[in-house]
Amino acid sequence: MKRRTFLETAGAAVAEPLLRESAGAPRKTISIQLGAVSLIDEGTDRVLDILQERAGVNALMPAVFSFSSGTAGRQSKGQPLPDHGKQEYDTNLRGGNFARVHPQYYKETAVDPKSTQAPDHPRFDVLGELLPAARKRGLKVFGLIQDHFPEKFPNAEKFRERDFNGAQCETLCKNNPYYRNFLTGLVEDLTRSYDLDGLMFVCEETGAFSNTLGSRLRGKRRGLAGTRGCFCEFCREKARKQGIRFDRVLAGFAELEKFVAAGRARRRPVDGYYVTLWRLMLRYPELLQWEHFFHEGVREAYGLMHERVKSVRRQAMFGLHIWHNFTLSPLYRAEQDLSELAKCSDFFKVALYHNCGGPRMATYIDSVSETIYGDVPPEELLQFHYRVLGYTGVPYDRLRLGPIGEEYVYRESSRSVEGVGSARTPVWPGIDVDIPIQSDDLGKQKSQTLGQSTRASVRESVRQALRAGVRGIVISRKYSEMRLDSLSGVGDAIKESA
Ligand SMILES: [Zn+2]
Repeated sequence: MKRRTFLETAGAAVAEPLLRESAGAPRKTISIQLGAVSLIDEGTDRVLDILQERAGVNALMPAVFSFSSGTAGRQSKGQPLPDHGKQEYDTNLRGGNFARVHPQYYKETAVDPKSTQAPDHPRFDVLGELLPAARKRGLKVFGLIQDHFPEKFPNAEKFRERDFNGAQCETLCKNNPYYRNFLTGLVEDLTRSYDLDGLMFVCEETGAFSNTLGSRLRGKRRGLAGTRGCFCEFCREKARKQGIRFDRVLAGFAELEKFVAAGRARRRPVDGYYVTLWRLMLRYPELLQWEHFFHEGVREAYGLMHERVKSVRRQAMFGLHIWHNFTLSPLYRAEQDLSELAKCSDFFKVALYHNCGGPRMATYIDSVSETIYGDVPPEELLQFHYRVLGYTGVPYDRLRLGPIGEEYVYRESSRSVEGVGSARTPVWPGIDVDIPIQSDDLGKQKSQTLGQSTRASVRESVRQALRAGVRGIVISRKYSEMRLDSLSGVGDAIKESA
């Protein structure tokens, strides 16, 4: 028997019964994010063999539209190269659309759609390549779209958010009609041009109130001019029609900025941080109004994309990646009501990255312990967060050494499944497989050897997700940063659950 045929047969024989919950129950979706370069470096069939054999994968999420090394390209520089693929870094990733751009679908988008064609592998169409190979094996394909344009992309400034002092942000405004046209054009192009099972949109942004307070992972980096959107002309005009007083919004943010600057400099307000912030919110309810307005704009953009996909092909799914901040910041979680988002999402990939979760939580705590909760010592503040978020985790002094907590994936998966409510939208937790930990997330412990995820820890997190009754998982963030042994951890858990 030829190797290929053997693997196909063996893969099918092992994977099929494993993925059924019980007789008649729908198959769980075991999906993985991957970039085009892996298929080029290793060969499409070889990659699919590995994914099916080791991890029981039955769905693929290629980064179709991405300028980010988080989802496209090879391993990030400075991180150990995995035991497969080209043993090199691709330091010149440009990114864009890794499938073929069909310009007729993009109307009034401010950028030239043709310029969004990824120049990295000019003759390679990731969907043209992947779809036939996946179909032969009975695998589903969901295209991943990331909400990001690089800094110097021609005309992308027309999409960019504006800070309240007018500075241009890196982030893209979801109330901006040009950007909305671009996004709906993109999902239409992909759904019409390819026989996809669906698309997933990745937006990792929050509003100006959260950003100013740093209520997010790596929050200290935010809160500076140019990182707090959005106050652009489109947002202003939309707000005016809703009767929001923009002069009051601006005055509120000017006060909030002073509050945060004092907190970061450890100049304690007379009545303490928490009380003073409440005073500001009571005096300027526009601060909260503006935060909600931001998230409403994002949800509208989701709704437009969902509607467009459905208008092209009813069965095609449009799903959302829910940013990791969902499990760290209560303020962000409050704006991500899954039962409401279910109106515009056919599945949820909830990022439950257990391993990099520790250091990321540490960056969140460090940030808000100088602003909202400036009077609360980090350890106490962390314990308070575990309480209000509904899970347990390691103490503050161990956060930067690795995994956030033993039951984290189970608790957060259960909550998400319950949070969807009667919509019954499938929840597919994002499972951390060798996600690199950024050096600035390590704080003073930079020299420490950080626990990478292991076969055992991956197996355990998949096991916890399955125990919580999820309908699938998304192996994250991209195949090119994962070690093969870690991938086998996914397969281990799936076999056990059979
Ligand atoms: Zn805007």
